[in-house]
Amino acid sequence: SCKDKGRNNYCFYNQDMNQSEQEVLQLTQDLRQALSGDQLCLHYQPKVELKTGNIVGAEALVRWQHPQRGWISPVEFIPLAERAGLIVELGLWVLESAVSQCKRWHELGYKNLSVSVNVSAIQLRRGDFELQVKQVLSQTGLSGEFLVLELTESLLLDVQHSLQMCLQGLREQGVILAIDDFGTGYCNLGYLQRFDVNMLKVDRSFVSKINQSKQDEAIVRAIIQMAHSLNLEIVAEGVETEEVAEQLRLLGCEKGQGFYWSRPCPPMDFIELVVKSSATTRGL
Ligand code: C2E
Ligand code: MG
Ligand code: MG
Ligand code: MG
Repeated sequence: SCKDKGRNNYCFYNQDMNQSEQEVLQLTQDLRQALSGDQLCLHYQPKVELKTGNIVGAEALVRWQHPQRGWISPVEFIPLAERAGLIVELGLWVLESAVSQCKRWHELGYKNLSVSVNVSAIQLRRGDFELQVKQVLSQTGLSGEFLVLELTESLLLDVQHSLQMCLQGLREQGVILAIDDFGTGYCNLGYLQRFDVNMLKVDRSFVSKINQSKQDEAIVRAIIQMAHSLNLEIVAEGVETEEVAEQLRLLGCEKGQGFYWSRPCPPMDFIELVVKSSATTRGL
């Protein structure tokens, strides 16, 4: 298949391929086009401080508007990009766009906003990721402490020394390291310390029913306690109702993200939410 031939190798249709393989191949070729055109954009989902309702940052989530098929979910095309080696180029584009966007928010006066970017394991294994981050930060003039990199637990199972050096280098630039979808992988406290992680994002599968399921509540409570004793910041994902937000607050969770506050939205809509939220907290 395509992936075995590595990146930068073109693939051609093969008679043995079934329908879905052909579809995947077509979509991968389309994605290559999308990267060089203007079919990709970023949406931003607010990260909210539960105590005050203040927006403290946003997660950048990539969106693809396919010319024929319309919007395609990143759940569908990120794996394709990973297999085809396109994730490196796509990931760099996401990083550059998100960091420049965050710099513009600061220039507008919202100097406390941070931006979170999802990072694929393949990007980190390339060896030059740390340098890419350094260059993007210095080109835009954003300080590293306003950039959060979201990593998955499985990525941290990699015991390679090079990964440790890379993440350490990122921390030295002030960049914040978060574990995405926490609780769904195989992470353990040892990895958390070894990699000097700063933040846990509790997976929405535990969060969304916290007010209905005692078991989910117990899991979230335990994660929050663990995070606190390890001095890790905690963000609950998938908050869809006021009840869940309130319960998280009572459990001592500091921050949340979810449809309750907003779906991921275009930059213009995001900044409008920020303006409104800061006007409310200033009592305007
Ligand atoms: P993720 O990083 O865990 O992002 C959170 C996902 O949950 C987003 O889906 C978001 O729209 C969704 N979500 C947020 N709040 C709620 C809620 O209250 N309820 C529910 N049901 N869902 C909620 P999205 O945008 O479809 O992204 C899916 C995944 O695709 C992301 O999961 C991330 O793993 C990946 N992804 C997205 N953008 C990028 C990117 O630029 N690079 C990489 N490598 N992966 C990306
Ligand atoms: Mg994420
Ligand atoms: Mg997540
Ligand atoms: Mg996810």
